[in-house]
Amino acid sequence: MSQLINGRVLAEKIKDQLKLRLSQLDKVPCLAMVSVGKNPASEVYLKHKIKACNQLGIESKEVFLAEKIQEEDLIRKIEQLNNDSTVDAVLIQLPLPEQIQFKNVMLHLDPEKDVDCLHPLNFGQLCLIEKNGLNLNDQLLPCTPRGIIHLFNSLNLNLSGQKVVIVGRSNLVGKPLSNLLVIMGATVTLCHSQTKNLTDETRQADILISAVGRPGLITAPMVKPGAIVIDVGITRVNDRLLGDVDFESVKDKVQAITPVPGGVGPMTIASLLENTLLLVERKRKSQVLSIKN
Ligand code: NAP
Repeated sequence: MSQLINGRVLAEKIKDQLKLRLSQLDKVPCLAMVSVGKNPASEVYLKHKIKACNQLGIESKEVFLAEKIQEEDLIRKIEQLNNDSTVDAVLIQLPLPEQIQFKNVMLHLDPEKDVDCLHPLNFGQLCLIEKNGLNLNDQLLPCTPRGIIHLFNSLNLNLSGQKVVIVGRSNLVGKPLSNLLVIMGATVTLCHSQTKNLTDETRQADILISAVGRPGLITAPMVKPGAIVIDVGITRVNDRLLGDVDFESVKDKVQAITPVPGGVGPMTIASLLENTLLLVERKRKSQVLSIKN
């Protein structure tokens, strides 16, 4: 059996470090989480996010909106949260229903409250990070990519020259992650539903990351022996949570692999808390500066 990359243990370590930073704040941070409609995967994430906030003493505020809400009403709600001085960070749970344009909504979120780094200003800044210039301590990064980079760091993995294949090109995972890993020195191939011969691509990967949401998509013949496999996918099937990777057939072939559950999921949540704190600390710094000036 290869190394099991335990996201739960690492997430607890990160949360312990965050407790110290939290104790240095003069206010309890507040994270608002906006969900539109019902989505079984989102419900699981939300439950865990609320629990993690409670564990650390971060206030969480849930905003549930109807599936059929119109874009302008959602934007109005977001503007209310922007103007609410008790709210430090806002998460808009994806996916959004079809009638709503993701980009329009993100444009209306205050970039200083954008905890998943999806406002075009924050997203754009990711592209401008200098090569080898990524610093987890002071850079806002989308939560799941941040969590995956933490996992790599815990393995002491040097990404320079590594061939990484990411399956899934969403705004939430694949697109920002590919950019960040290139900055870290990897050579990245980003695959999606129109990729021809997916197996030809994935078999080349020293590091294979799957973020699709299709259980069993990645099977043993698609994986290079000795690769590192990161399974981002989470799909609820009956009462079980399944990743994209056929874990049983892949696990003995690889150097290291994340389980589902217990791999990337807890790291995304720890990163959400980290980003919340980062936003509060930034706000505090800018307030101190404006008082001094
Ligand atoms: P998404 O927006 O639906 O994107 C899915 C991506 O997969 C798309 O780029 C799509 O290609 C691609 N795809 C679909 N079928 C494919 C196929 N047969 N072969 C290759 N690529 C295919 O999803 P997401 O928000 O990124 O989430 C992906 C999965 O990760 C979901 O299961 C989600 O629940 C999970 N997730 C987990 C975490 C965590 O913390 N563990 C965090 C976020 C998401 P096209 O672009 O061509 O349509």
